[in-house]
Amino acid sequence: MAASASSLLAAAASSSCAAISPRLPRGAPAAASVPSPSRHSCYSLRASPARRHRSRFVASTAPTMQPPAESRVSTVVDVDLGDRSYPIYIGAGLLDEPDLLQRHVHGKRVLVVTNTTVAPLYLEKVTWALTHNNPNVSVESVILPDGEKYKDMDTLMKVFDKAVESRFDRRCTFVALGGGVIGDMCGFAAAAFLRGVNFIQIPTTLMAQVDSSVGGKTGINHPLGKNLIGAFYQPQCVLIDTDTLNTLPDRELASGIAEVVKYGLIRDAPFFEWQEKNMPKLLAREPNALAYVIKRSCENKAEVVAQDEKESGLRATLNLGHTFGHAIETGLGYGAWLHGEAVAAGTVMTADMSYRLGWIDESLKNRVVDILKQAKVPIAPPEAMTVEKFKNIMAVDKKVADGLLRLILLKGPLGCCVFTGDYDRNALDETLHAFCDN
Ligand code: NAD
Repeated sequence: MAASASSLLAAAASSSCAAISPRLPRGAPAAASVPSPSRHSCYSLRASPARRHRSRFVASTAPTMQPPAESRVSTVVDVDLGDRSYPIYIGAGLLDEPDLLQRHVHGKRVLVVTNTTVAPLYLEKVTWALTHNNPNVSVESVILPDGEKYKDMDTLMKVFDKAVESRFDRRCTFVALGGGVIGDMCGFAAAAFLRGVNFIQIPTTLMAQVDSSVGGKTGINHPLGKNLIGAFYQPQCVLIDTDTLNTLPDRELASGIAEVVKYGLIRDAPFFEWQEKNMPKLLAREPNALAYVIKRSCENKAEVVAQDEKESGLRATLNLGHTFGHAIETGLGYGAWLHGEAVAAGTVMTADMSYRLGWIDESLKNRVVDILKQAKVPIAPPEAMTVEKFKNIMAVDKKVADGLLRLILLKGPLGCCVFTGDYDRNALDETLHAFCDN
């Protein structure tokens, strides 16, 4: 495999290139405040006179589902995908609002997929929300072992075992209750069970609330590579109760911030600048700061997904830093480093390579390092990662096409990137050697 990996990397030549143009500034937000949405040339964010915001991307014919007037939903972000459109509800205490969940349940039977850590915290509450004043619905659950290392076929089979043994039929709903691992696995199980049943995402980590629960990428890992087996499958809704972050460990919170940073770097310069000024508030879990970060991240993700659901180009840019990051996760063994930690180190490596290519200036490279340092996530890969290990694992990355490894690289001012296989392979080698001892 090593020989073919080297040739893959060496052969980087012209390939499809999805360049992202700089966003127009939306007005510089004050350092301590949360910027309010305003109009932008590519899309519009509409704020209602009340405190609730609804963001919508691309004109939609899908019926809108408004929460009741007294609802605690502070924001609804619509993911606009025609007849597969769905809302992302964001707010504190949303698990105390049974109607929000119940309106998206199809059929009379619900299977909640969760894990041994999240079940004791939230399963009872979610079961209550699904069944309160709703005697027609019955809820069963499958509680999986916790951890990235269980995001595999054996664990997935436990979901199918439960669904088959309990005789779930096509008119059922799967509910993912947990972080990105649970969301990805439950979504894949929903996509495959009886060739597709409805599912709902209730993300409970920052990582899942800002990224993985939105957009319909579902799947599991293969021992040789992250997320190599899966499906695009959209949920009926995403319900983000920001109160669930109260129980999230600090390390997991920081891991989620790595994915937030990427949105600023690839497409939203004002958001990056806001993060530079407000990182201490995020780490201190200041509720307004967290709510803003979740909302703005979901808006960015929804906009990209609405334009490129199946990742023909633009959507790949959401994987900034992930080719290096996935290699770290695979190389170390799943779960040794958190996903966001690996992505953070991968983002620094990406910035380094972009700088070596002459595509960004040094100050931007330094800002990438500084913001991730502030977020208290790694800014370099672990010692165990060698150049050869990186190359071998990156050779089976999903972004390899026709034998060429394509990468998301920063290019131009803050907020601009490209997805391309057309880069000088020496820059990649230099970056790998700069970050690895051997
Ligand atoms: P995770 O799902 O492993 O959750 C992290 C840890 O937090 C786990 O131990 C979990 O049990 C625990 N936890 C979850 N919610 C909690 C809560 N409220 N309180 C206390 N503990 C809680 O990891 P993650 O960071 O959420 O997600 C990472 C996964 O997401 C990776 O597998 C990654 O590949 C995937 N991902 C997918 C996408 C996508 O688009 N589908 C995007 C980004 C990441």
